[in-house]
Amino acid sequence: MDAVRFKAAGKAFTHIAQYHPELTALRRELHAHPELGFEEHYTSARVKEALRQCGVDEIHDAIGKTGLVAVIRGQGQGSGAMVGLRADMDALSMVEHNEFSWCSTKPGLMHGCGHDGHTAMLVGAARYLAATRCFDGTAVLIFQPAEEGRGGAKAMIADGLFERFPVQSIYAMHNWPAMRAGTIGINMGAMMAAADRITIEVSGRGGHGAHPYQTVDVVLAAAHITTAVQSIVARNVRAIDSAVISLCAVQAGDLGAFSVMPGKATLVGTVRSFDAAIQDRLEQRLQEICSAVALGLGATAQVSYERLFPATINTEAEAAFAADVAQSLVGQENLDRNLEPSMGAEDFSFMLQHKPGAYLRLGQAQGSQPGMPLHSSRYDFNDEVLPLGAALHASLIEQAMPLPGQKP
Ligand SMILES: [Zn+2]
Ligand SMILES: [Zn+2]
Repeated sequence: MDAVRFKAAGKAFTHIAQYHPELTALRRELHAHPELGFEEHYTSARVKEALRQCGVDEIHDAIGKTGLVAVIRGQGQGSGAMVGLRADMDALSMVEHNEFSWCSTKPGLMHGCGHDGHTAMLVGAARYLAATRCFDGTAVLIFQPAEEGRGGAKAMIADGLFERFPVQSIYAMHNWPAMRAGTIGINMGAMMAAADRITIEVSGRGGHGAHPYQTVDVVLAAAHITTAVQSIVARNVRAIDSAVISLCAVQAGDLGAFSVMPGKATLVGTVRSFDAAIQDRLEQRLQEICSAVALGLGATAQVSYERLFPATINTEAEAAFAADVAQSLVGQENLDRNLEPSMGAEDFSFMLQHKPGAYLRLGQAQGSQPGMPLHSSRYDFNDEVLPLGAALHASLIEQAMPLPGQKP
């Protein structure tokens, strides 16, 4: 068993640390059984069983297909308060290159983002909260499917999540390999970017490579478009604002046909931003530049712009509260209240569009060197941080809904 090499304060942490071995076993069991979004049948059943053993008051399944919700009522019920906590359960379509005994047993699937750890931490919080119930109100623990690009949060919301469990605020966290275990990061606004997908279809006229004057060259047009779109962030977005346009895939012609000029080229990429006005501007400029550059070369370009995930924006009051809770666990020296946002995306953003709340990052690097990055085939969740994450979840509940006489 990994020794806890950092200290955290508070009775939740001390209590949960007692079942660190069981949480580690559960986390590794989930790691060995990775499942893609909306296919988390094993995981969902396993979590349900664990929640039953914890003695939670209610378990609701099949919300957003494979999503689960557990309800725990506090000793006090006078406040009428209800607070949500969320963990994601899905894995990735990738091959694991680790050698430990809890490696993926499913070829081509891997818990490469640590959602196995997130799930185990929320189960840990459920066990502690159901055993102690030192809060005045109702805790709603949300086990969400399909965070990795499949919109599981959206599916749960569409399935009536917030009508059935009308929480006043909601919290979630993600492990972060670049931060040392025992540290927590948050900021008072944007945590993660909006993620959009662009597909640019360039059409021209194919022909013989020896007679290009008879063609409309889409490879040339695609190359000009690739270069021109990089002027958008550089010249249409203020230098102090943040945006990214990355064209990540290009397809045209046949590698075996060196003298056949194709009639179509496709470019696919992603656009990242935090602010809705900037997002609108990026979309508009992409449309204008792609069609104008194509037109200048005699071709046409169709841009399909899909808004996949909104930006993950913490609400100020809830973020400040969550930072105070985190500080009560790890101390001021291990808390970053002004964490840099990431251009990555997170579908907890859909929940934050409906409810005030905050998203935190939980450090998980062992020692001073950053751990293997998320989505790396050698990544693994650091079990050392399980009690801290579980205690952070539980403390958010206890401090958001204190029993009368325990108000901070
Ligand atoms: Zn991920
Ligand atoms: Zn993730």
